Amino acid sequence: MNPDNFSPASVSQSPLIDVLIIGAGAAGLLAARQLASAGQQVRLLEARAYLGGRAHTLTPPSFTRPIEAGAEFIHGEAPLTRGLLREASIGWQDTTGETYQIRNGKVQDDRAFFAYLPLLLEKLQALDHDLPLADFLAREFAGDEHATLRAMATQFTEGYDAADPSRASAWALREEWATDGVDDSPRPVGGYGPLLHWLAAQAQAAGATVQLSAPVREIRWQPGHAEVVTTAGTSYRARQVLCTVPLGVWQLSENQSGYLRFTPELPAHRAAAAQLGFGSVIKIVLEFEENFWRDRLPDMEFLLSDAPVPTWWTQLPDPRPLLTGWLAGPAAQRHRADSDEAILAQSLASLAGLLATPLATLQAQLRASYVRNWGTEPYAYGAYSYATVGSQAARAALATPVADTLFFAGEGLHHGIDSGTVEAALASAQAVVQAMLNTR
Ligand SMILES: Cc1cc2nc3c(=O)[nH]c(=O)nc-3n(C[C@H](O)[C@H](O)[C@H](O)COP(=O)(O)OP(=O)(O)OC[C@H]3O[C@@H](n4cnc5c(N)ncnc54)[C@H](O)[C@@H]3O)c2cc1C
Repeated sequence: MNPDNFSPASVSQSPLIDVLIIGAGAAGLLAARQLASAGQQVRLLEARAYLGGRAHTLTPPSFTRPIEAGAEFIHGEAPLTRGLLREASIGWQDTTGETYQIRNGKVQDDRAFFAYLPLLLEKLQALDHDLPLADFLAREFAGDEHATLRAMATQFTEGYDAADPSRASAWALREEWATDGVDDSPRPVGGYGPLLHWLAAQAQAAGATVQLSAPVREIRWQPGHAEVVTTAGTSYRARQVLCTVPLGVWQLSENQSGYLRFTPELPAHRAAAAQLGFGSVIKIVLEFEENFWRDRLPDMEFLLSDAPVPTWWTQLPDPRPLLTGWLAGPAAQRHRADSDEAILAQSLASLAGLLATPLATLQAQLRASYVRNWGTEPYAYGAYSYATVGSQAARAALATPVADTLFFAGEGLHHGIDSGTVEAALASAQAVVQAMLNTR
């Protein structure tokens, strides 16, 4: 494209710099730090008024301390995440406590899903071609005697991976379930917020400019030159652009609010994004006056159930009387349009049933509540990605740079067992920074 085609609004020539990064989540912030430290002139444009993207530590009104609206745990080995936490002198705390299962109002004494894992893995290991989990279950575990196994595998895929079982890759789940990762999930002390703010401070100390409240609406490009235009009409120019927006933004159609335009368009990238899974999550955080559930469920860490809001957890070993509720995957999608008030009411009703406690007692105990519905959240439109059949190739296609000018990163582009995590975002950023520096 000829730069003369740029619109008059954009001719208020901002200086041509090396790299514009779009998005100040984990991927964008790590990339900003690395590129600026390597001597690149970097400007980071973030749509929201805060840093961190889907890792958002905040203290809403009436809460006594910060809570996590998005990322909370460190899943698996996560070498980059733990390495950065060490570098930033931020510790992490192992989670402790019991996992309870409640079905039909009764506490079960089996470990439910995990009890079925050996049988599931045996059939999954024998699977010679990938297919959606729902098809795999229907083929290998069709009989009535497997009804509970099917329900548990489906519930786990929906709840943990925020995935639609009719699209989720059985091979990817095999890889995930074959590791112990799901049991090993500490939390950064103070939440993810301090780590992301530390990364931003490091990037700024290395010379990067971090600009909040600057949603980008269009990226105009030609080889070796790009112009990025914000919704306010301001334009910035750079030799390279690194786009780290979530899959939810990639998957918007042209007529939807939040659509990010490339001029000229990138049809192969759009097609790849459409093939990938991006699940919804509604997170409900409730702070109570005291830990009134300890008699019924001593040392409760996790509670998995068949209630409308099925999954809950505490902050153990921190005794803070905080319960986090979780609706994910198709269930979150079904409640996507519900008001926060309706979701809160449903959460309290679920908890009252699960804890065999009158609703009025719960309400009297409730000090603060917070609902975050990621499916409708601007600049995200979902929570995190999951592997679909064929997603390895689609992720690689979406991550493919264009003309050494446009580069892409973010959790949704990373393939591996840690997909859908902060670690995935960091890993993807680290790989792309290397590729960008190699073009110099
Ligand atoms: C509810 C929930 C729970 C989670 N739990 C965990 C967990 O326990 N552990 C874990 O490791 N991971 C967890 N995750 C996933 C983790 O939060 C993400 O994988 C990670 O934070 C993604 O980082 P990112 O940089 O790829 O994307 P993001 O954090 O989404 O960053 C992208 C940035 O781009 C910005 N942006 C979007 N559009 C534009 C635009 N047009 N112009 C400018 N900026 C734009 C966004 O505002 C955002 O800040 C969770 C996520 C959610 C939502």
